Amino acid sequence: MSYKLFIPGPIQVSDKTYKAMTTPVVGHRSPDFVALYQSVQPGLQSLFQTKDPVFLSTSSAWGIMEGSIRNLTKKKVLNCMCGAFSDKWNDVSKRCGLEAGALSVEWGQHIAPEDLRKALSTGEYDVVTLVHNETSTGVMNPLPEIMEVLRDFPDVFSIVDTVSSFTAVPIPKDELGIDVILTGSQKALALPPGLGLFSVSERAMERAKTVENRGYYFDFVEFLKNHEKGMTPSTPVIPLINALKSKLEDIEAEGHENRFQRHADLNAIVHAWVAKNGFELLPAPEYASKSLSCIRNTRELDLAAINKRLKDEFKMVIDIGYGKLKGKTFRISNMGDETEETMHELLGNLDTIISSQS
Ligand SMILES: *Cc1c(COP(=O)(O)O)cnc(C)c1O
Repeated sequence: MSYKLFIPGPIQVSDKTYKAMTTPVVGHRSPDFVALYQSVQPGLQSLFQTKDPVFLSTSSAWGIMEGSIRNLTKKKVLNCMCGAFSDKWNDVSKRCGLEAGALSVEWGQHIAPEDLRKALSTGEYDVVTLVHNETSTGVMNPLPEIMEVLRDFPDVFSIVDTVSSFTAVPIPKDELGIDVILTGSQKALALPPGLGLFSVSERAMERAKTVENRGYYFDFVEFLKNHEKGMTPSTPVIPLINALKSKLEDIEAEGHENRFQRHADLNAIVHAWVAKNGFELLPAPEYASKSLSCIRNTRELDLAAINKRLKDEFKMVIDIGYGKLKGKTFRISNMGDETEETMHELLGNLDTIISSQS
């Protein structure tokens, strides 16, 4: 059974991408792999807007999220918490045996730069984690303003999760001074799950070299050592790297600015539909994500029934709320390869179902 995913991850994967994955695998220590690995670097560096290497991890994003705090924290990590993924990072920090503090706001709110300044002024912290686009609540945090605060605390290292915003909006890593930026394959990049991507600033790499108990699988120093040979520390998920290469070609063909603009335009189509139908976004409009919409179920519709009909009759699915927001919100992704036509098709189908239900 096949149906189209409008959930905010994993998202719809194109036939071209699936086809790229059938490229036969090569030995991961062979010149053929080195050529493949090195061929994706320029495109990735350009998308991350960085001169630093971009590492490929055979894991989902959580592997890198856990690895990053283990590679950088000596004193205490501050986890900025505003939804399911960012909240979980605090739990993960503690499970890693690290000292961890919380800057926590209600789900649907954003992380306020001045609150971060206050927390960092205690001098307790040497690492901060931030989820740029909190996929569970549809909040996009004000990254430039937050990074501006961090510039006043040069001893603090920043780790930024861009899992659901990477390539949907511009995120200039080097210009903003982000120490670790990470993303995963199955959300904004529209690849199947299983590949993590990340880039580490030079100063964070130097720092990692001095941190004990970095482990092996996500050790930044191992990644760098292997990168210099055009390789990864362990056997990588080669089919997904072939898919990545194909996707980078798509992104170059579209153009970065066009891609950002398309995401903004598609997101605006959903927002207009929300207003027209008497719904509201969960976040304040100025902090609403550009890659997905988290919509309050203000009309108290039976979301499960709607999604079932959407799937049965129209072969599409949306998300009906993450964790404690289940049933209270629904989420529609406009990440990846969507077009005005596909978004209108989805919203038209939702109109048909909702009008016959209410
Ligand atoms: C989905 C998601 C993750 C977790 O990704 P996995 O691929 O499941 O490890 C982390 N952060 C954000 C913002 C996400 O949307």
